[in-house]
Amino acid sequence: MVSNIKCSQQAYSDKQDTWYNFYMKVLDINNLSLGFNTENGFKEALWDVSFSLEEGKTLALVGESGCGKSVSAMSILKLLPKTAKITSGSIIYRGKNLLDLDDKSMQGIRGKKIALIPQDPMTSLNPLYTVGNQLLEVIKIHQGLTGKEALQKAIEAFDAVQIPSAKERLKSYPHEFSGGMKQRAIIAMALACQAEILIADEPTTALDVTIQAQIMDLMRNIKQENNTAILLITHDLALVKENADNVCVMYSGRIAESAPADKFFANPSHPYSIALLNSLPANRGKLLETIQGQPPSIDQIIMGCRFHPRCKNVFEPCSDNVPELREIEPQHLCACHLVK
Ligand code: SF4
Repeated sequence: MVSNIKCSQQAYSDKQDTWYNFYMKVLDINNLSLGFNTENGFKEALWDVSFSLEEGKTLALVGESGCGKSVSAMSILKLLPKTAKITSGSIIYRGKNLLDLDDKSMQGIRGKKIALIPQDPMTSLNPLYTVGNQLLEVIKIHQGLTGKEALQKAIEAFDAVQIPSAKERLKSYPHEFSGGMKQRAIIAMALACQAEILIADEPTTALDVTIQAQIMDLMRNIKQENNTAILLITHDLALVKENADNVCVMYSGRIAESAPADKFFANPSHPYSIALLNSLPANRGKLLETIQGQPPSIDQIIMGCRFHPRCKNVFEPCSDNVPELREIEPQHLCACHLVK
């Protein structure tokens, strides 16, 4: 069965090469598998995960907590805990396999070429220094600018993320900024580095709805103006519908479904994707559904489809055979025995 999955993943990669010929791929994750050393031995957490990021496009990685979204993102940045071990696969950025790079080489990429917008911006801003100091430090390290030139760049970055009175606000400490302003400041740092890839890990979860919309507008503008590739990690399919060009639904460390956003929303096919969509409050006219149970922990051994204990459509092969990720229509892949 494992070799079948490999075959289908290879087919997936080949197809991606064809589909994406017209676009510039900036990052290619190929067949990434990894696990963690735990007290109970080595536990697998990701299986054969493949996806690509393209210039000027947003890929949404969707799923509940514990589905492998953030682990996939942290693998790109090589910020996994020491207990993690990548067992196979590659992460190709501009022709280089990031998995082969040492820490020093990664420092030239992390923050500079690939920037992270975290869920809680307080984890990225040092409360002891002004926001301006922190932004100027980033500009000094990544662009080699100092003095007036660096200050001018910092003001431009604040202007770009619509922080008013930029020159004055650079003197503020993080606690003097609201949640939305802090998130804008983090985005300004990514802009100042001229990052080609933004990894936005639940970037608006800690913000209220109005600010959420402003931050997402801002990210859309950045994508269009700078041709930035965005990896949007979220459990919120409403946010995905508004913002993503491509969608990858993950469940328990595997890709369950992947497609361009228009095809995904026109024809969601995996029972897990359908259940997520049916649980959206915006699904007017229908009763809100919940998905019974929780995603399995990495300790849990589940044979066959890892969604089968929660799936309403479970049938005979599901508890024995892992479903392959296969094409159900051009550019649309799904891993489910039910979907042909
Ligand atoms: Fe449900 Fe079976 Fe499809 Fe898994 S393979 S999602 S259990 S129908």
